[in-house]
Amino acid sequence: MHILLVEDESKLARFIQRGLETEGFSVEIAADGALGEKRARSDQFDLILLDVLLPKKDGFEILKTIRKAGLKTPVLMLTARSETQDIVSGLDSGADDYLTKPFVFEELLARIRSILRRGRQSQTQLKIADLQLDTVKHKATRNGTTIDLTAREYALLECLMRNHPKLVTRQHLAKEIWGFDFDPGTNIVDVYVNHLRKKIDHGFGKKLLHTERGQGYYIAHEEKPRKSR
Ligand code: CA
Repeated sequence: MHILLVEDESKLARFIQRGLETEGFSVEIAADGALGEKRARSDQFDLILLDVLLPKKDGFEILKTIRKAGLKTPVLMLTARSETQDIVSGLDSGADDYLTKPFVFEELLARIRSILRRGRQSQTQLKIADLQLDTVKHKATRNGTTIDLTAREYALLECLMRNHPKLVTRQHLAKEIWGFDFDPGTNIVDVYVNHLRKKIDHGFGKKLLHTERGQGYYIAHEEKPRKSR
């Protein structure tokens, strides 16, 4: 997850950056409004943390400009207490949430996670490498080629893609797709995953559907190195 932090108070910016990096995010800092807008428009970020009072261009102006330009990246505004009357206009301009300074880091983290979760749930186009899933039309394509899937295979693929790149256990898949508690004596999950694998991976070069032996499956750009036992 790649976050753009537009914040001119360098101490605060570095504090947020360090904290988020510890939590596994990568964070790029833009220290003024002009640079912040330029970087935001590059559309490389999963989330933008946007301060309001900034040199060169203020946060609300940036927000209006990028939304006008069609950018859909979620934005969390960081406002000072004195600016709370502006929050409504911020939300009207297309902010997803706001946080009043000073805040505790845990609160920031909780808001970020909640925004990212919401984004994932409402996402109708899932994409990993050249594999794409339209969750409205229930249609899968890889490298532009339509892949015919049965209803079960589709459900399996959507579940794996929504959880990407995390491992999904066979128990979880059984419950989610077939609605039953996992019986370790049955190999139905593995059989279906193998069908799915043939359809989405065979003939397409790079393998995206990986197996964690005895555990479950995951979709990712790369196979994870095995844990040492
Ligand atoms: Ca500021």
